[in-house]
Amino acid sequence: MIGYKLGDEHEELRKSVEAFARDVVAPVIGDLYEKGEFPYDIVAQLGRMGLFGLPVPEEYGGMGGDYLALCLALEELARVDSSVAITLEAAVGLGIMPLYRFGTEEQKRQWLPALCAGERLAAFGLTEPGGGTDVAGAMKTRARLEDGEWVIDGSKSFITNSGTSITAVVGVAAVTGTRPDGRPEISTILVPSGTPGFTVAPKYSKVGWSCSDTHELSFAGCRVPAANLLGERGRGYAQFLRTLDEGRVAIAALSTGLAQGCVDESLAYVRDRTAFGGPIGRFQALQFKIADMEVRAHNARLAWWHAAAKMAAGEPFKKEAAIAKLTASNAAMDNARDATQIFGGYGFMNEFAVGRFYRDAKILEIGEGTSEVQRMLIARELGLDA
Ligand SMILES: Cc1cc2nc3c(=O)[nH]c(=O)nc-3n(C[C@H](O)[C@H](O)[C@H](O)COP(=O)(O)OP(=O)(O)OC[C@H]3O[C@@H](n4cnc5c(N)ncnc54)[C@H](O)[C@@H]3O)c2cc1C
Repeated sequence: MIGYKLGDEHEELRKSVEAFARDVVAPVIGDLYEKGEFPYDIVAQLGRMGLFGLPVPEEYGGMGGDYLALCLALEELARVDSSVAITLEAAVGLGIMPLYRFGTEEQKRQWLPALCAGERLAAFGLTEPGGGTDVAGAMKTRARLEDGEWVIDGSKSFITNSGTSITAVVGVAAVTGTRPDGRPEISTILVPSGTPGFTVAPKYSKVGWSCSDTHELSFAGCRVPAANLLGERGRGYAQFLRTLDEGRVAIAALSTGLAQGCVDESLAYVRDRTAFGGPIGRFQALQFKIADMEVRAHNARLAWWHAAAKMAAGEPFKKEAAIAKLTASNAAMDNARDATQIFGGYGFMNEFAVGRFYRDAKILEIGEGTSEVQRMLIARELGLDA
C-alpha cells in the first residue's frame, strides 16, 4: 500500500505556512502587486521562519529538512500569491540548491548561511536572449581564464531575484571551452552583485508575478577569481539539468497551490454572490466547474507528491518531475480561467485575488522548461528520441 499522509513535522510546517499566507501575505499583497514592489518585508519574515534553508543541513545555516518541506511551503504560499512563492522557489531551487549540491566546502560556508536566513538572495542565470529551450546550443556567454581570474562576456535574460537590494550572487552558466566531442564545455561561475562589468538592467514590465524581481543581466569583461567556479569545470550542463529536474517538482507544487487557491476563492464567492434570487453556487453549471477545478488541483498534488517521493527515495525522477510540472501548470491555467469566469466582471478587477491568479498562471507553462519541453522529456523517457 502507498501512504499519502504527511508526517507530523511536514503537516506542522504546512499549517504554519498556510496561516502565514492567510494572515500576513493576503492582507498586503494586492497593494504591493499593483505597485509592482518586491515584498522585502515578507521575504524577511519567510527568512525568520527558516523557509529559505528548509532543504539545507544545519551546519550551513539550514533547517535540516528536505525538498518535500520546501514544496509544501510553496504550495501553501501560492494558494494566496505566486510572486511571493516564486521568490522563495527561485531563491532556494535555483540559488541555494546549486551552491549546496555542487559548491566547494568554502563556497558553501561563504554563501549559504546568509542565503538560508533569507537575508541575502542568490539567482541562477541560464537563459539568454537567444533562447532558453535550446539553452546549450544558444549559449553565447563566454568565460575565459586570465591571470587567475574568469573574464565573462555575454548576457542573460529573465533572471529571477537578480536585482534586489539583497541579491548577493548570481550563478552564471557560460561556455568555457570546447569538449573533445566538439560540443561546448559549459561551467557555472559565481558572480557577486556589484562586480565591475556586471550590469543589471531595469526590471521588466511583466504580465504577472508583478512582485517578483526579474532582470536582464549583461557581462562585459567582468572579472571574478578563478575560485568562483561552481564545483568542477565543464560540469555546468549536468548541474543545470539536475537543478531543473528538482525545480520542476517545486514549480509543480507552486502551480498546485495556485490551482487550489482558485478553488478556495471560488467556493467562498459562489456562496456569497447572488443572482436570480439566491446564491450562484446553486447553479449546477458552476458546481460542475468547481468540481472540475478540485479534480485538477487534486491530480496536480498527487503528481508532485509522487515526483517528490521518488526524488526523496533517491530514485530517478526525471519523467515524474516533467509529468508533475505539465499536469500542475495545466491545472493552474485551467483553474485560473474558470475561477475568473465564476467571478464574472469582478474576476477582471485587480482587487480580487483571482485576477492575480489569472495573470500569474501563464508563466507556469513557460518557466523552468515550457510545456513542450516537458512533453519532449516524457517522450524521451518512454524511449522515443528525435
Ligand atoms: C518571469 C520569468 C522568470 C524567469 N526566471 C528565470 C531564471 O531565474 N533563470 C533562468 O535561467 N531563466 C529564467 N526564465 C527563463 C525561462 O526559463 C525561459 O523563458 C523558458 O525556458 C523558455 O525559453 P525562451 O523564453 O527562450 O523560449 P524559446 O526557447 O525561444 O521557445 C519559444 C517556443 O518554442 C518552443 N520550442 C522550442 N524548442 C522546441 C522544440 N524542440 N520542440 C517544440 N517546441 C519547442 C518552446 O516550447 C516555446 O513555446 C524566466 C522566464 C520568465 C518569463
